[in-house]
Amino acid sequence: MAQSAATVAPDTLTSAQKIDMVQAELEVAKLRLRQQARERRGLERVAPSRAAVLQRLAPKVIRQAPRPSLVRTFDQALELDSPSLDHRRIAWNMILSEPHTPSTSSVASLSKIMLRDLLMENHHYGTMLLLRAISSSAIHSSMQTCIAVEDENGDHELLTIHDFAVTSHSSQMIQQGSLFVIKEPFFRTVLDEACVLCVDHPSDILFLDTDNPVLPRAWRTSGIERSAVQWKHAGNLALRSQDPIEAERCYNRALAAMTASQADDILGGMIHRNRAQARISLEHWDGAYSDAMTGMRLVPQEEDGVANLQKMRAFYRAGRAAYELGVYDRAHSAYTSVTGIAPNDVDGLRELKRTEARMAEQATGVNFWAATGPAAHGTRVDHADFLRRTEARRTQTHGRGLFAIESIACGDIILSEKALAFVPSPATPKSFHLVIPPSATRGTFGTQGNMWTAVIQKVLANPSIGPRLLSLYAGPNYPPLESLDIPMLDGRPVIDIFRVENIIEYNSFGYAHDADLTSFGNAALATPSADSMDGSMGLWSHASAINHSCLYNAEHSFIGDMIIFRATRDIAKDEEITTLYKEVNADYEIRDAALRTWGFSCDCKLCEADRHCPATTQRKHLLQQVREVLGRLPILNATLEPRAIIMMFEDLLAQIEKTYPGEFYHGLPRLGLITLNRYCAYAYARSDTDKALGHALAVIAAHGYTLDMTEDDAEFTGNNGMSAPQVVDQLINVGRLMERKDRAALVRRLREMALEMYIVINGEPSGFEARYGRAREQ
Ligand SMILES: [Zn+2]
Repeated sequence: MAQSAATVAPDTLTSAQKIDMVQAELEVAKLRLRQQARERRGLERVAPSRAAVLQRLAPKVIRQAPRPSLVRTFDQALELDSPSLDHRRIAWNMILSEPHTPSTSSVASLSKIMLRDLLMENHHYGTMLLLRAISSSAIHSSMQTCIAVEDENGDHELLTIHDFAVTSHSSQMIQQGSLFVIKEPFFRTVLDEACVLCVDHPSDILFLDTDNPVLPRAWRTSGIERSAVQWKHAGNLALRSQDPIEAERCYNRALAAMTASQADDILGGMIHRNRAQARISLEHWDGAYSDAMTGMRLVPQEEDGVANLQKMRAFYRAGRAAYELGVYDRAHSAYTSVTGIAPNDVDGLRELKRTEARMAEQATGVNFWAATGPAAHGTRVDHADFLRRTEARRTQTHGRGLFAIESIACGDIILSEKALAFVPSPATPKSFHLVIPPSATRGTFGTQGNMWTAVIQKVLANPSIGPRLLSLYAGPNYPPLESLDIPMLDGRPVIDIFRVENIIEYNSFGYAHDADLTSFGNAALATPSADSMDGSMGLWSHASAINHSCLYNAEHSFIGDMIIFRATRDIAKDEEITTLYKEVNADYEIRDAALRTWGFSCDCKLCEADRHCPATTQRKHLLQQVREVLGRLPILNATLEPRAIIMMFEDLLAQIEKTYPGEFYHGLPRLGLITLNRYCAYAYARSDTDKALGHALAVIAAHGYTLDMTEDDAEFTGNNGMSAPQVVDQLINVGRLMERKDRAALVRRLREMALEMYIVINGEPSGFEARYGRAREQ
């Protein structure tokens, strides 16, 4: 599997053009796979070159976007048949890697192989390459790096590395002379004659210090024999000059030098406490916590000021790391220790209070009632998970699901969860990635490529979250793992990036905001469309167990990196929680096709009805007509009387209504009636209050709700009702129409109901007044 990182200024590209580019890449991918298959059978190459394929497909894109930057990009693409190894060629060919597992052998168990002995398209199991960089990083997109390397025979090759490795060694900063081991290397042809060495899994490459004994004598520099104290000093210097990667390396060496000599608890304690600080800068919370705790234990037991200060620092670092990992009881105990040593320590008291607030949230939920909105939170929300009302269980028919373990009232928070990894929508997108599995029929692009990097880096830095990640469904090609713990090998976590890519594919939620609904600032406005590929995306491991149903009982919304689920109706204990994966289309075929991209068909009562009702086909044609009419609306508005248009709409509505026979649709939403009733409700608003009211109520009814109104009150029922921004709109609209009839109490009640549903959809009340104005009277 594979990815390509074509960097193009996105403001010059429409979605259609991006899709064209993906298709062009797919053609190339297929071509190459076909070539490989032929070669395996000993046949000659007959397929056209990659350049020829791009030449055939790219002009379409170039025609559509005559902006210079894009033309330049494709000029480069079209030059691919030049014999020199240009960078773009390598980058683009990254899409063609086949999934494979990371090496599970330690360096010590592998035998050395030389570049000249490598076989093309082969994994060299049981062997390792010892290499030296003879260039600095030649290219890097945000996902990959390419460098020239040599072995000890002086043979040269090109090496591509996925930048997932950067958390422990910044491959973007690989210098000439950097030394490393590649375990069980994969040597691959790139389209025609060129070859590259590929490192896909971060644990398959190991960077070596220049005095590592595994290195050949000619490459080793043995002059710098440093003591633990000297390494510690070097680490402190690096830390002061804000190079935590180098600082961590030096402290690692200091500890290694110490174990060689006799144990020195005081020195060891200092090194651990300092390394905790470096690891906090690197967001390696696991390591920072264990270092801080070790460092605390190694503080001399005397009750003097220096020892106390050292202990406090260690507890602070432990508290910070535990807090960031969401392990609040540990953070609490660390900060309690700080205030135990210094009862009036301002920072300690503040952190203790903050931690207690998180612990309260875990028990009782976050108070999202305060209208704050995402702007006040940023993309990293400082709240705790609230998960105790639900748990994942096996379902009867569709794998894992999430179930209520207590009854949950309509409007209540079912769960709120911080993302395991999160990529916010870029404010000004500068590039995008293509991620194309070789066997897939479609490529994904946009934020998803960045999600891959974000998840891998997070879990490499914090292997303790591994089980949460690896327990997630990874598609049909990846059976569940026997152990969910991330194995460590040669000091590095081993993780299969291809499994992770599939986990993201099947479990992440994306969201993008619809310009028409900006006031619903947090709402998951259903399908991130082709236009919103740059939307935000995250992986929420608990919430990802939630299955889809068109007749969902939970709405999800997002505040920064937190996902919030609220009940759209009362949920009983042991009932399954369901939500919308994609906006439901009234046309069953379109809806079903959208869900099949996740590999399932919905078995809700509405889909059942649509499958069995004989009028579904007829309805499909009518809905097609509706789309055509609405597409022509600007022309119709210019040529027809408004009354004639409304009459046409009402005629279509009457026909669609007949395709929803009661024996199939009793108590169910009738989605095909929403759009035109909405138009009519607004069209009649000035001329005919009662007709406007009728159409507004029809929109609400089409969502599966019944609104019963009396003189001064209203009741809202519908167990299969679909909460939606349009229902909120119409509740407000009905209220406005009722104002004309001087029914103030009823108007207030309708507004209350609208706000309740708004909060369910939006997570919290912010934006409601911006959209609907203030209430007339309080
Ligand atoms: Zn359904």
